[in-house]
Amino acid sequence: MPESSYDMIVIGSGPGGYVAAIRAAQLGFKTAVVEKDRVGGRCLNYACIPAKAVLRVADVLLEIEEADDYGIKVSAPEVDFAGVSKRREKVIKTLTGGVSGLLKKNRIDVLEGEASLAGRGEIAVNGDTISANTILLAAGSVKRPIPGAEFGGHVIGTEEAWALDDLPKTMAVVGAGASGAEIASAYARLGTEVLLLEALDRVLPTEDADISKVAERGLAKQGMTIHTDTKVQEIESGSDSVKFTYGDAEGEVEWLVIAAGRGPDIEALKLEEAGVELDDEGLVAVDGAMRTSVDGVYAIGDLTHGPALAHKASDEGVIAVEDAAGQQTHAIEYVDIPRATFCTPNVASFGLTEEQAREQGYEVTVGKVQYGAVGAGTVYGDRTGIVKIVGETKYGELLGGHIVGAKATEMVQELVNARALEGGYPEIARLVHGHPTMSEAVLEAARAADGWLIHG
Ligand SMILES: Cc1cc2nc3c(=O)[nH]c(=O)nc-3n(C[C@H](O)[C@H](O)[C@H](O)COP(=O)(O)OP(=O)(O)OC[C@H]3O[C@@H](n4cnc5c(N)ncnc54)[C@H](O)[C@@H]3O)c2cc1C
Repeated sequence: MPESSYDMIVIGSGPGGYVAAIRAAQLGFKTAVVEKDRVGGRCLNYACIPAKAVLRVADVLLEIEEADDYGIKVSAPEVDFAGVSKRREKVIKTLTGGVSGLLKKNRIDVLEGEASLAGRGEIAVNGDTISANTILLAAGSVKRPIPGAEFGGHVIGTEEAWALDDLPKTMAVVGAGASGAEIASAYARLGTEVLLLEALDRVLPTEDADISKVAERGLAKQGMTIHTDTKVQEIESGSDSVKFTYGDAEGEVEWLVIAAGRGPDIEALKLEEAGVELDDEGLVAVDGAMRTSVDGVYAIGDLTHGPALAHKASDEGVIAVEDAAGQQTHAIEYVDIPRATFCTPNVASFGLTEEQAREQGYEVTVGKVQYGAVGAGTVYGDRTGIVKIVGETKYGELLGGHIVGAKATEMVQELVNARALEGGYPEIARLVHGHPTMSEAVLEAARAADGWLIHG
């Protein structure tokens, strides 16, 4: 039996919900989390973590295949996909077990069931009504098809793509954004014949154009076929395959993955009856402290505006809880949140692209270097990666940072931190970086922006 009242009830145990619940417990709130599926949310169970677990396998395979370049003779490696799935499940279990352990350690009750808002300050779950001073909605998002298509049969979403039991022979991925690029990059390297289809004019279309170019070359090298400016239509799923058209061509693949959009999981929450308003995009409307239109009800993560990213959800959870506790909070600058795509080549960025910075009227300075400019690029076998800094000329402000190549998703954090701590590219250019590290490419890009590139 759950208790009948709490200080804080969090609906959803993803990276938004469980982090918020722990912060609430730290601040002395008697807290419960309600989860209708599996603790850890979609991120840990079906999305970020399984994706990265499978991508890691593709990375290991690539390293083995390239071992000859390093003077190691290896006979042709073979992918045991059952073993890949087993490791993926083990990674998920370890991490979700860790979250359950943290919730327990912080004395947070976990209530299993689907929650909806009931009266003011109340939720309903499994026929019980439970009251709370604060209710935090962290229900995340669900897949959405492209217009004219529906999921079913062999037409699947990204979460299902990462959970396949057998390695497909053929696959089409619709959408070359972060999720689509990751799926295409993993399966192509594992041995699937992949067709990557994008309606816009380049892969990773929200990234800086220079970065997309390098990413596309890297993806194509993995053997997949890429079509940009191409719409997928007339999707028809049979019992073992899917037929469709793309541009003027016809295709048939074992699995067609739609990686082109998600929407908030709000159906069960009964928001309208509770008076919780939505914004123009159909997301839960919130202010900078994540307060909804109803007093005492907050919403975070994929339910709300801003990039749909796990770390964004977690940060918003902390803001919401601290606001509920009466602490001073600051609204997030969404553009400055790091964005990471874990395909090969790795891609990461924050802030404005060069094009956006120019459109916004900044006087723009660009510092761009290839990884080959620094020793580590050659030592570790990636000379083609790029670090591109988009800066503002007069004050040396960092407007954006864009990296494609090995370890990009780790390296971008330096630029994010520098900006958050009010440093610009002239300051990064004078920070001592370890040698030989890939991060020296960030240093050189900052020097290039500041007008005194040394290696290059
Ligand atoms: C394939 C894929 C890969 C991704 N990879 C990354 C990545 O590498 N990095 C990254 O930052 N982001 C990634 N994302 C995005 C990331 O998964 C989401 O931004 C993140 O999960 C959002 O967290 P959340 O807490 O808002 O919701 P979720 O993780 O979706 O968790 C919400 C939870 O709420 C539960 N719930 C919903 N409604 C109710 C209800 N009424 N009652 C009870 N429980 C309910 C759900 O069952 C779910 O467990 C990826 C997404 C996908 C689809």
